Amino acid sequence: MYNATLQNREEVAPGLFLIKVLPDAGVPDFLPGQYVAMGLPPERSAALEARKPKLIKRAYSIASSPHEKDGFEFYIALVEEGALTPQLNDLKEGDRLFVADKVVGAFTCEEIPPGKRVFFVSTGTGIAPYISMLRNKKVLDKSDSVHLLHGVRYSSDLAYRDELQNLASRQPRFHYHPTVSREDPTWTGERGYVQNLFKEELTPHAETDHIFLCGNPAMINELEEKLLAVGFTLHSRKKPGNLHVEKYW
Ligand SMILES: Cc1cc2nc3c(=O)[nH]c(=O)nc-3n(C[C@H](O)[C@H](O)[C@H](O)COP(=O)(O)OP(=O)(O)OC[C@H]3O[C@@H](n4cnc5c(N)ncnc54)[C@H](O)[C@@H]3O)c2cc1C
Repeated sequence: MYNATLQNREEVAPGLFLIKVLPDAGVPDFLPGQYVAMGLPPERSAALEARKPKLIKRAYSIASSPHEKDGFEFYIALVEEGALTPQLNDLKEGDRLFVADKVVGAFTCEEIPPGKRVFFVSTGTGIAPYISMLRNKKVLDKSDSVHLLHGVRYSSDLAYRDELQNLASRQPRFHYHPTVSREDPTWTGERGYVQNLFKEELTPHAETDHIFLCGNPAMINELEEKLLAVGFTLHSRKKPGNLHVEKYW
């Protein structure tokens, strides 16, 4: 039933955590932006596990880059009433779990032509696939510029903030735009929903831009409608376009 081990767990903020999971067969080749299913039985008890119950499986975007072979990194939000995340949240180093053999998904940068302005738009844990893409560097090398827009509730929820600020200071083509939607007296940056960051020099243009949307479906639906109305076309494997969408629920 189990084929992987939890190597590491790091709390970002209450209900938000990073885990590193190493499949027994090692980390397979994959493209930055893809996802894999993880699973656990409905509850952890030796008696139940001996009966080999049906696993609860869910999809998770991989945050690590394909060259990190010490495990898949995932960034996960605890859904209090959820079937799987309360159990994932309880895992400790050395615990066993299931990870699917196959990494899948078409939310990748492979088909972006060179010289484009690229927007990575995310809410919450929707930042995960972009971390994999940015650690891989290919997208930065081939694009005119890359803008990462990350919307969270509180500034303490800004996972990967140091890594992204550091990248922005070293790489002039990379721009990091975090925004915080709830009352947070310590925060001096942008406020409000991530969709409101598309203004002034960040106004989208279908001729020059490729836009990726990942995370909360309310944000995705709102932006998708606006972007389709100004000439963007949805990307699919069969029909390449400049609007790439990954809805988490
Ligand atoms: C392609 C893909 C990639 C995904 N990658 C990630 C990821 O990298 N990190 C991650 O945390 N989740 C990710 N998800 C969501 C994940 O698959 C699960 O739906 C989520 O972890 C909840 O599982 P659960 O069994 O605890 O909740 P369920 O019992 O399945 O309840 C689902 C409900 O939880 C809520 N929900 C689901 N995901 C989230 C979330 N991220 N934040 C807040 N509320 C949520 C929604 O209300 C949804 O209706 C991804 C989903 C897809 C389809």
